[in-house]
Amino acid sequence: MTKYQKYWKQIKARKVHYCSKCGGEIGITEYYWQESPEDRFLHIINPKRLCLKCYSQQGGDAEKKE
Ligand SMILES: [Zn+2]
Repeated sequence: MTKYQKYWKQIKARKVHYCSKCGGEIGITEYYWQESPEDRFLHIINPKRLCLKCYSQQGGDAEKKE
C-alpha cells in the first residue's frame, strides 16, 4: 500500500458533489473540502469530499490551508 501525505484543499464546486460524511449535496459554486495528495503528481482515485459543516466538525487531523 502506498503511503503519502495528504491535506485538505478548499475547492469551489464546478459540478454537484456529495459529502463523503453526511451525504449532503454540494451544489455548483459552493465550497467544499477535498482530500489532496501533497505530491501534485499523485492522484487519489476516490478522494473524500466534505461539506463545510462536516469539515469544521472533524477538527483534529485537519490542517487549514488557505
Ligand atoms: Zn457533510
